[in-house]
Parts: sequence; structure tokens; C-alpha cells
Amino acid sequence: MAAREVEDIFADILDRAKALDPANVRRWFDNLTVSHLSGGSLEIGCPDEATVQFLRDNCKKSFTRAAQQITGHLITVDFNIVSTDEPGRPSQRRLPGLKLHPDYTFDNFVVGPSNRLGHASCVAVSHSLGNTYNPLFLYGSSGLGKTHLLHAVCCEVRQECDRAVIQFLSCEDFVNRFIRAIETGNLAGFQSQFRTVDALVIDDVQFLREREQSQEEFFHTFNALYNNGKQIILSADSPPGKIPSLEERLISRFNWGLVARIDPPSYETRVAIVQKKAHIRGMNIADEIAEYIAHKVHANIRELEGALTTLYAVASTTGKPITLELAQIAMEGQSESSARYISITDIIEVVTRHFDVRLADLQSKKRSQSITMPRQICMYLARKLTKHSLEEIGGHLGGRDHTTVMHACNKISEAERSDPQMHTLLAELTKQITQVPTA
Ligand code: ADP
Ligand code: MG
Repeated sequence: MAAREVEDIFADILDRAKALDPANVRRWFDNLTVSHLSGGSLEIGCPDEATVQFLRDNCKKSFTRAAQQITGHLITVDFNIVSTDEPGRPSQRRLPGLKLHPDYTFDNFVVGPSNRLGHASCVAVSHSLGNTYNPLFLYGSSGLGKTHLLHAVCCEVRQECDRAVIQFLSCEDFVNRFIRAIETGNLAGFQSQFRTVDALVIDDVQFLREREQSQEEFFHTFNALYNNGKQIILSADSPPGKIPSLEERLISRFNWGLVARIDPPSYETRVAIVQKKAHIRGMNIADEIAEYIAHKVHANIRELEGALTTLYAVASTTGKPITLELAQIAMEGQSESSARYISITDIIEVVTRHFDVRLADLQSKKRSQSITMPRQICMYLARKLTKHSLEEIGGHLGGRDHTTVMHACNKISEAERSDPQMHTLLAELTKQITQVPTA
């Protein structure tokens, strides 16, 4: 086959693959090249390891189907790195063990008030390993960008200094590897692997809870790295002191450097994120559509992305342009609770009606059980169902401070777990709240 012909076929395959799996389309697909196409095999050339990994993990099926549909033959597809002489494009080949997601870079991260500190500290650390904040501890609820930021740090370090040795893994992976090392009697190998790096980046360290032996090992790893001025970056779903049964000495070490909280994004940040995500996928969406999606979805950024994917999929399967009407149709299927806006007032209304108490009582200083419990339930549900901060919730309930609200949330959450009656009550209230008609 002539080179020209191969390229044309590949262009058709690429178009078909995009149509088959719109969710995973990326702007950079257009830079992929064909390294080999013949004898039932197609090899696609990629600029770096992260791209290869992304395509293997997410796109192998759609590319294989596309190749088979376009050529009419059974074809196996694989992806590999071809060298590019593109200036400014970093080589990612020197650290083959490091799996980085090509989307998760600083460029693709939208900075807003909710994540400014986390972002700035990650940028600072990536420019000077071990010298600024050590350890750096990021925490926040699921889907707010912690993993994204950790990838971005690793990616940036690699661009600045590709000799730096980085270990980046989930805490679960760390624990599993530790267990395997013990089983195979190769603890020394495990230790040298983790204690000789320039940066150790561990995602979701709350996974250490109740794993005493792993905590012990992690403690020594931490000390070895820290004493040698090596960088440690950690993420978790709660601050160090709130991770259940985490040893005191680890809590204290995690607090030595900078602990940065990531909050749910504001409306403006959500709009910017939708636009950024659309851009990464090579989609153009009007501002009003980004605003519509950001208004409908506020729970977590993963859901925001899911909404965009749904929209893209509906557009490409129906062949319709992406309009606000299409967005409204595409998002009709969104679950009510995540799609509709719930205010603290909605919550207070349902809770006061259920307990037959007045709002003024909830806002008063009264501390009798008959008032305290509904008040705490309001706080808990507001935390769960709205994106208001602890301060804002406290403000609605008689100007209580954030520690009071946090205490209430923990208490009710604990009761929800341990007391079936409370569990049922909260489920019933939630149902009523999410059914309150809004204007
Ligand atoms: P976490 O690790 O906190 O659960 P992730 O890092 O996995 O969250 O983020 C979930 C999704 O949201 C990812 O696709 C990520 O790219 C995206 N995301 C989160 N925050 C931002 C942001 N500020 N800008 C752009 N994308 C974001
Ligand atoms: Mg994560």
C-alpha cells in the first residue's frame, strides 16, 4: 500500500473511532500517526508513554472496531511511542514505570478560590522538590481534583528535570506491594525502591487506616525520605487528624509541612471547568451550555465531566449540533438529587415540619435535645445535599461557627451508620427535600 493510501485509511479509522467512543476523544488524536498497517495489524504512533497508556486503557476497543469496520478485515491494534522532534515536547520515556494521565496537567486544571492553595502549593513543589512544602498534604472530598494535581506535579517535574526519580502510586498499591514484599521475603528490595527516590507521591493515604504494619513501614519510609530532604506528597479525603485510626506519629508528620484543603468549586469555576473539559475533547460549546451544565451539576467534578460526555455522546449518535436544547434533553436523565438545586431553606423547611419545631428555635441558643437534634440534622443534610461551606451553614442556623457544624455532621453521620432508625429518618427527610418543588 502506498504511504498516502495508508494515511487516508488511518484518517478514516480515526474518524470512525471518534464516532464510536466520543467520551474518550481528545484534541491530540489528530497528532497520532500510523507506524504500521498491514498483515492484520495496525500500530499507531504516539508521542509519549502517557498517551500510549491512555489509548491502551481507554481506546483499544473503539480503535479495533473502527479499523475492522473501515478495512473490512480483522485487525489487531496497538499503540507505541514514536520519537518526535517537536521542540518543547518533553520526552516521557525515561520513567516507564510512571503512569500519568495525559489530561491531568497544570494547563488543564482550572484554578478558583476552592483549590487555589492546593494548586499553588503543587506548582511550587514541582519547581523545587524537597525545598518548599515538605510534606505536602492535599485533602478534600472525592472528585475535586486531588489525583489530577498529583499527576500534574509528576508531569511538571519530569518536564523540568527528567532525571528526577519519582514514585507515584495509590496508597492501596503501596500497601499491596508491601504485603507482597513480606510474602516473598523481599522487604529490602521494597524498602530501597521507596527510600531512594527524589519524590514519593501517594494518593488516598486514608487507605492506611487500620493497617498497622503498613503504617509502621510508611513511617520509616517517610523518615528516610524526609531526613534526606526528599519530597513527599500525599492526598487524602480528610485532614491528617481526621483519618480514623491513623497513628499519632504519622498525623504529626503529615502536619509538618503544608496541609492544603480543596473545597467544592464555585459556580464560576464549574463553568470554566466545563469549558476546559470541552476544549480538551476538541468540542466547542457555547457559554450558555457550559453555564447550564454548571448550574445543573454541582456535586462533584467527575459528574460535571459525565454530563459533558453524555451530551457529546447524544450529539454524535443523533448527528445533531450541540445546542442548549440538546443539552437540556441530554441531561433529563440526570438523577434528580444531583441535577436540581437544593437550598438550605428547603432543608430547614422539611426538618422543622417533621420535628414540629420553629426555625427561630433552631437559630436560638436552646440546647435541649428536642431542638439540638433537628438543628444538627439540618447541618448534616445541608453539608450533604448542598455545596455550602461549614461557615455558611452555621450562618443559617443562628451564626454557629464551623467547628460546631463539623461536630454536628460527624455526630449525625456516626448515628446514621450505627442507628437504623436514624438511617431511615435521614433517608425519608432526604427524599422529601429532594422532592421540594423549586421555582
Ligand atoms: P479526586 O482525586 O479528588 O477524587 P480527581 O483528581 O480524580 O478527583 O478529579 C476528578 C475529575 O475532575 C478529573 O477528571 C479531573 O480532571 C477533574 N477536575 C477536578 N478538579 C478540576 C479542576 N480544577 N480543573 C479541571 N478539572 C478538574
Ligand atoms: Mg483521587
